[in-house]
Amino acid sequence: MTMKVNQEPEEKPLKLYFIHYLAAGHMIPLCDIATLFASRGHHVTIITTPSNAQILQKSIPSHNLKLHAVKFPAQELGLPDGVESLSAVNDIDGLIKVFQATALLQPPIEQFIQDNPPDCIVADFIFTWVDDLANKLSIPRLVFNGFSLFAICAIEAARRNSDSISADAATGGGSYIIPDLPHPISMKATPPKEIGEFFESVLEIELKSHGLIVNSFAELDGEEYIEYYERTTGHKAWHLGPVSLIRRTEQEKAERGQKSVVSVDECVSWLNSKPLNSVVYICFGSLCQFSDKQLYEIASGIEASGYRFVWVVPEKKAKEEEEESEEEKEKWLPKGFEKRNREKGMIVRGWAPQVVILGHRALGAFVTHCGWNSTVEAVSAGVPMITWPVHGEQFYNERLITQVRGIGVEVGAEEWTSIGFGEREKVVSRESIEKAVRRLMDGGDEAEQIRRRAEEFGVKARLAVQDGGSSHNNLTALIDDLKQLRDRKVVHESIA
Ligand code: UDP
Repeated sequence: MTMKVNQEPEEKPLKLYFIHYLAAGHMIPLCDIATLFASRGHHVTIITTPSNAQILQKSIPSHNLKLHAVKFPAQELGLPDGVESLSAVNDIDGLIKVFQATALLQPPIEQFIQDNPPDCIVADFIFTWVDDLANKLSIPRLVFNGFSLFAICAIEAARRNSDSISADAATGGGSYIIPDLPHPISMKATPPKEIGEFFESVLEIELKSHGLIVNSFAELDGEEYIEYYERTTGHKAWHLGPVSLIRRTEQEKAERGQKSVVSVDECVSWLNSKPLNSVVYICFGSLCQFSDKQLYEIASGIEASGYRFVWVVPEKKAKEEEEESEEEKEKWLPKGFEKRNREKGMIVRGWAPQVVILGHRALGAFVTHCGWNSTVEAVSAGVPMITWPVHGEQFYNERLITQVRGIGVEVGAEEWTSIGFGEREKVVSRESIEKAVRRLMDGGDEAEQIRRRAEEFGVKARLAVQDGGSSHNNLTALIDDLKQLRDRKVVHESIA
């Protein structure tokens, strides 16, 4: 491991515990954030579960950062051994069980923390019970939810203006503007009711914490949204990202999250043989799984565009590959597709080394579901996006990418579902996919401007995490703040 360790002379390092949610999109960035604190000389423990610990072990520095694995209740819930993440299930039953497991982890985690209290707990927002525990121990709690601050502002503004939004959407054929925000954000889709309610309940407890850690940088969310958030909620947000930039070598980048099904060398040498900005990367994160019909449209759309591609299809398809007959394959892949596109394209059936791929000079565009990690990773690499939101808060992220920052184009997805898999009513057509790909890849004024802005944001992202950059300074300020709280507590306890 060649992680650069930027150790400050610490008289007394902070002791911090991190608790991640059981999903790759939450675990990967929280592990990177933990690594940031460890790289400044603080003592960090990530509280995790056994199979997630095996994954994390590969991507953490050996000093200052420990893993503590609590038992995962696989047997109690009837989950197969090793399935300890939402990213490892592909049906609703599995999803509910992993969600239930999260609740069952409370007693062993709570016990561990009470037996060895830290100076601060950084927990995913799903662990709402950490609020009471931190209060009981008189220590600060920081929250991480994996969202952009822009999305949180949009969720909050939509909640406060729900009546006027419903009226607008009813008269505007489903289209509406979210009022109050620094920009007039127009939306075509509304979140499913249960998602809206879920966001509201967890965000309410989030606001009771000492602060929110955001995997982004101030320039991307924008000072106007930071100011808006702090003014409307009275809560502090700390932008510390893009946190993936803590991973410097190809190997460190490749080993985040899961073991890749293709070797980094294979990927890089394939990309090395392609011209600058000529490849479209297509990946929908760790949770989305499309129907065969939708996969067929993606294959047809990318082939019709004529551009080179790396296309990540979910692990489920990989598992089926060995036993998959030609007839089955033709349900999701046009006949002869692989043969025709042998030179032009690479299909990755399972986990891809995304950050390595995005960082390659051959990359020209990223078809993304707008998961926040994927978004901020693309921004860091200066790659323009073709946005295709599916669930969660992704529709808000799309608006930041296209309307506010102008670093991507929309494919035209309008169906906002509660989860990333299961039946969907609408299919995004091959024509829409081809059109969006061409809009960015064919060149022309609009495409050039989008590409230039994306590259400028890439430079800003890298500057933000360097000495003197906005995120670097925020981390220093947050550490100072936590030290003051710790030292005040020590004085208080010695007087009492
Ligand atoms: N990822 C990856 N390889 C894959 C799929 C996903 O490395 O084949 C990583 C990606 O780089 C990102 C995370 O998994 O860090 C996905 O997080 P995101 O917020 O984009 O989406 P989610 O999976 O939460 O929907």
